[in-house]
Amino acid sequence: MSKKAPAQKKLPRAAAWYEIDMQKGVFRFKNKLCPKCGSVMAFHREPVPRWHCGKCGFTQFQR
Ligand SMILES: [Zn+2]
Repeated sequence: MSKKAPAQKKLPRAAAWYEIDMQKGVFRFKNKLCPKCGSVMAFHREPVPRWHCGKCGFTQFQR
Protein backbone atom coordinates (compact mmCIF):
# COMPACT_ATOMS: atom_id res chain seq x y z
CA MET A 1 0.00 0.00 0.00
CA SER A 2 1.68 3.10 -1.18
CA LYS A 3 0.19 6.45 -0.60
CA LYS A 4 1.08 8.83 -3.31
CA ALA A 5 1.95 12.22 -2.00
CA PRO A 6 0.17 14.99 -3.81
CA ALA A 7 2.42 17.11 -5.94
CA GLN A 8 2.25 20.22 -3.93
CA LYS A 9 3.61 23.36 -5.33
CA LYS A 10 5.56 24.88 -2.55
CA LEU A 11 6.51 28.50 -2.68
CA PRO A 12 10.07 29.37 -1.78
CA ARG A 13 10.63 31.14 1.46
CA ALA A 14 11.43 34.29 -0.43
CA ALA A 15 7.83 34.36 -1.52
CA ALA A 16 7.09 36.01 1.77
CA TRP A 17 8.78 39.09 0.47
CA TYR A 18 7.75 38.85 -3.13
CA GLU A 19 4.60 39.01 -5.05
CA ILE A 20 5.06 36.72 -8.00
CA ASP A 21 3.33 37.46 -11.24
CA MET A 22 3.37 34.12 -13.01
CA GLN A 23 2.02 35.52 -16.24
CA LYS A 24 4.82 37.98 -16.67
CA GLY A 25 7.44 36.02 -14.75
CA VAL A 26 7.98 39.03 -12.58
CA PHE A 27 8.90 39.23 -8.95
CA ARG A 28 7.52 42.26 -7.25
CA PHE A 29 9.56 42.95 -4.16
CA LYS A 30 7.42 44.56 -1.56
CA ASN A 31 10.07 46.62 0.12
CA LYS A 32 11.82 48.14 -2.84
CA LEU A 33 10.52 51.55 -3.62
CA CYS A 34 11.26 53.66 -6.61
CA PRO A 35 13.71 56.48 -5.81
CA LYS A 36 12.04 58.68 -8.35
CA CYS A 37 8.33 58.34 -7.69
CA GLY A 38 8.18 56.22 -4.53
CA SER A 39 6.01 53.42 -5.85
CA VAL A 40 6.82 49.73 -5.41
CA MET A 41 9.25 48.42 -7.97
CA ALA A 42 9.19 45.08 -9.74
CA PHE A 43 12.16 42.75 -9.96
CA HIS A 44 12.85 41.18 -13.33
CA ARG A 45 15.31 38.31 -13.60
CA GLU A 46 15.47 38.11 -17.37
CA PRO A 47 17.36 38.95 -19.42
CA VAL A 48 19.34 40.67 -16.71
CA PRO A 49 18.50 41.12 -13.04
CA ARG A 50 17.07 44.54 -12.56
CA TRP A 51 14.53 46.55 -10.73
CA HIS A 52 11.93 48.30 -12.73
CA CYS A 53 9.33 50.83 -11.81
CA GLY A 54 6.20 50.33 -13.83
CA LYS A 55 4.95 53.74 -12.92
CA CYS A 56 7.67 56.06 -14.14
CA GLY A 57 9.82 53.58 -16.06
CA PHE A 58 12.88 53.90 -13.86
CA THR A 59 15.21 50.90 -14.13
CA GLN A 60 17.96 50.00 -11.72
CA PHE A 61 20.35 47.22 -12.61
CA GLN A 62 21.73 44.93 -10.00
CA ARG A 63 25.47 44.70 -9.81
ZN1 LIG B 1 9.01 55.26 -10.36
